Amino acid sequence: MPGQHALLGASSSKQWLHCTPSARLQEGFPNESSVYAEEGTFAHEVCEYKVRKYLHERVKRPQSEEYYTEEIDQITDVYAEFVIGIIEEMKRNGCEPLVLVEERVDYSHIAPSGFGTADMLIIGKDENGKGLLHVCDFKTGQGVFVDCDHNSQMMLYALGGLAAYGFIYDIETVRMTIIQPRLDNISTFECSREELEAWGESIKPLAKLAYEGKGEQVPGDWCRFCRAKPVCRACAEEALSLAREEFLDLDAGALTDENNHATSDDDKAIPVFKQPGLIPMTELAEILPTLNRISSWIEAVFAYISSEAINHAVPVPGYKVVEGRSKRIFSDTKAVVDTAIQNGYTDLYKQQLISLTEFEKMMGKKRFNELLGDYVVKPPGKLSLVPEDDPRPPVDLENKPDREFSVLSEE
Ligand code: SF4
Repeated sequence: MPGQHALLGASSSKQWLHCTPSARLQEGFPNESSVYAEEGTFAHEVCEYKVRKYLHERVKRPQSEEYYTEEIDQITDVYAEFVIGIIEEMKRNGCEPLVLVEERVDYSHIAPSGFGTADMLIIGKDENGKGLLHVCDFKTGQGVFVDCDHNSQMMLYALGGLAAYGFIYDIETVRMTIIQPRLDNISTFECSREELEAWGESIKPLAKLAYEGKGEQVPGDWCRFCRAKPVCRACAEEALSLAREEFLDLDAGALTDENNHATSDDDKAIPVFKQPGLIPMTELAEILPTLNRISSWIEAVFAYISSEAINHAVPVPGYKVVEGRSKRIFSDTKAVVDTAIQNGYTDLYKQQLISLTEFEKMMGKKRFNELLGDYVVKPPGKLSLVPEDDPRPPVDLENKPDREFSVLSEE
């Protein structure tokens, strides 16, 4: 159902299978949309349109001035050609496949109240004439390569597909494919129906724990999209202890106790670095994965604190919200150009219109103010959270509308 999300969603299953309390811990945090998510939704609609058109269904082409590009056309073509290829192959294998586009699947027999929408389910026969379920998923992301091998999202969709349609064609094999054209990634994983169902049984206890919000918080790469991340204690402890382990010689015992926590006596101790001197590239390369984990946690915390302080006026001890410097801009560039030309200034373009400062330099301050002063405006600066001893006055947040913020800074 559009707009509805299952607590134990298939797309977040990596999270709740590894860190069972994560689904419940995120409940209080809004599931905010982003331009990437909106573009992804539009691209999925185009995929759906192309496949339905091939199936001779009456469909209207989705429109979007914002997101429609030639590139979207190309990547959705890759998807449509792939799934049409599967359908055609099944026909060659001697069967008329059942094709389900954007199909809601229910896997609540495995994960309580679990459901989701599979981009494509195709049920027919394989090259040996045996029953086959093929699940396809389109991904627009280009940040992370998504592998289909034992991918829990795909396996949950497949279990939902089997539960609803497993009786057709006596399905023996399940094939799953992720199509991620922006990374040239078409990844397929295949297993027998028994293997898939055994996996489903094996995760039932974890799914139950996840539904109840029980179990241990376990950080890992699945934290990336967790909305609780900025305030997750396990994630904070992991990031700080990774940093300590990576850079400090814990054997020297100067900074931490046996749990890697700073001890009260040692709070002000000088850290003992593993090896003094400069770090060679080989060693830097080794710590890159750790740095990624630490920096992604730091970014999430900065963004969360700044947003809470600026957008919701939540007090942050030792910090205040100030208005950043704002740049003067022209309110009406056409009027500026016309006025300048009428007064004999013609050298107004380099590759584009020269900047306000260049106008001022060219005309001199006095003449600039006389001719163009009325067109100069100073929009409000960006709000940012800074330490309390910053000389700028705090902003009265009660009387400010929501504003774009910049991250916590020590400027
Ligand atoms: S951020 Fe915390 S709650 Fe979220 S998945 Fe990671 S460890 Fe679990």
